[in-house]
Amino acid sequence: MTRLFGTNGIRGVVGPDMNAELAVKVGRSIGTFFGGGPVALARDTRLSGPMLARAAASGLMSAGCEVIDLGIVPTPCAEYHVAKAGGALKGAVVVTASHNPREFNGLKAIDARGMEMRREDEEAIESIFFEERFRVAPWSEVGSIRSDDTAVSRYLEAIRGKVDVDSIRKAAFTVVVDPGNGAGCLSTPYLLRSLGCRVISLNAQPDGAFPGRMPEPIPAHLGDLMRVVSEVHANLGIAHDGDADRAVFVDDKGSFVVGDKSLALLAQAAIRGRGGTVVTPVSTSSLLEDVVRAAGGTVVRTRVGSPIVAGVMFETGATFGGEENGGAIFPDHQFCRDGAMAAAKMLEILAHARKTLSALEAELPEYHIKKANVPVPADQRDAVLTSIVALARGRKVDTTDGVKILEADGAVLVRPSGTEPIFRVYAEGRTSARADALAAEGVDLVKKALRR
Ligand code: MG
Repeated sequence: MTRLFGTNGIRGVVGPDMNAELAVKVGRSIGTFFGGGPVALARDTRLSGPMLARAAASGLMSAGCEVIDLGIVPTPCAEYHVAKAGGALKGAVVVTASHNPREFNGLKAIDARGMEMRREDEEAIESIFFEERFRVAPWSEVGSIRSDDTAVSRYLEAIRGKVDVDSIRKAAFTVVVDPGNGAGCLSTPYLLRSLGCRVISLNAQPDGAFPGRMPEPIPAHLGDLMRVVSEVHANLGIAHDGDADRAVFVDDKGSFVVGDKSLALLAQAAIRGRGGTVVTPVSTSSLLEDVVRAAGGTVVRTRVGSPIVAGVMFETGATFGGEENGGAIFPDHQFCRDGAMAAAKMLEILAHARKTLSALEAELPEYHIKKANVPVPADQRDAVLTSIVALARGRKVDTTDGVKILEADGAVLVRPSGTEPIFRVYAEGRTSARADALAAEGVDLVKKALRR
């Protein structure tokens, strides 16, 4: 059986991969898995969203589901809507390709807890899909569809309930927000205004042609945001990906804040004064350990992937978790990445610290990062991984996901990419020379393993 779901749902290019036929069939499969019942439906701003959402709705209704169409909302808003329904909803289907380029779209399945589906549930849906074991509702039990446009206001109210609104309002921040024409257009600018900020928005009209910038919030796409933050002397810049489950930040000097640093600041604030655990994949910088340990907490490492991080947080009662790509999870709020929540928390941090973001960054320990890729044919992937483990014997290693060699002054992680025939080498050191040396060692390790 081939897989349908990737790390974050089903993704593909609209037309050849992602089309009405597929969306109907996925809708039928998810509806069968749920066994009918009420299911939320949401989408981001992509041009193919209405076509795919209506097809998925049709599939869900054919299996007897009552579809509640939330329209264009951030993915975390749809997840929150399901979580707060307290089991009254079977789950949700979200039509989004998150940070992928404009020609892509995707389908994401959310369970009754409002969390991204567990792998075993995805497998159950995949087997229904491939074996075409669809539930076909008889004429009198075919599902219905209705709209609900209250999801965003309830979601934003919940976020305001989780931060110190008075302190943020008193600080009267100037914030530039760039939702990248994605689903965050409908939420974050309004959230910020309600928190007393002077809001300047860029690319804030919902537009699936993504005329302003590409949906992935990386420095190469955020030149306008960085420039405007610095020109208007704003306190903070915020950018989201296409479905606004991720938030990245630009500091008061107009510089992009690397994800490891913003994650460390959010983790520090979550842990300070109450301890607890922070869950993050093996790929996150040791910076997080340094900061969390100093604040009285501990770090738990997982395999890469936000559903895995969220799952471990849910099972262990963690205080905070997330990834270095701007995905932060606040379990008091909900067990999935939430871009608007991260934005509100960052404002709270600035309000409480009474310091600029650049000053807070400067207080963090410094690590130098070096990344490299080594091509490895897909059929040699497992053998190469086994050889690397053998070659690293005797060293202090973490094999949670790939192989991470830990040194006193740095670390190097070598792991196969989930999507390309390459091994990714990710090294960090307290000095730039050390990071270079560790990256070279990681590359060498893969090459040696290839020759064995
Ligand atoms: Mg996303």
